[in-house]
Amino acid sequence: MCRCRRRGPFVLIERFGQNPVACAKCRGEIEVQKLGVTWREAQAIASWRQLYSSIKWLWLQSGAYENWASSELASRTSAVNRMGLDLRRMLGHRRLTYLYWFHDNEGDPDSEMKACPLCGGRFRPLGRFIACARCRIARG
Ligand SMILES: [Zn+2]
Ligand SMILES: [Zn+2]
Repeated sequence: MCRCRRRGPFVLIERFGQNPVACAKCRGEIEVQKLGVTWREAQAIASWRQLYSSIKWLWLQSGAYENWASSELASRTSAVNRMGLDLRRMLGHRRLTYLYWFHDNEGDPDSEMKACPLCGGRFRPLGRFIACARCRIARG
């Protein structure tokens, strides 16, 4: 849980079993109930999280759907990422919000994504993440 006194921006990030909103400064979870969102907005966050974690589960299974799941999560135009980008915009009315972007080689520094998948610009440090400020995409 985030205990920062002065909170940094939000990062929308799906992590199994956790609230999908993190503090950029400390990576701690932020409770969705504390965001001051409407019921409809909370439902939209929950739907995105459910969809994202289902696809991510398929990817982690490394079975017949692995490649499909990986391309859905990496795609700029997949339904799951369009939902994520919409949520980022919605939460952005409350506080600057970044969307964490999937990368197939999670944790492998040699193949770590170095440029923003949307604009090709360089990532810059953002608290405990790296991010493209123009597209509001986070990694790390
Ligand atoms: Zn924090
Ligand atoms: Zn960008």
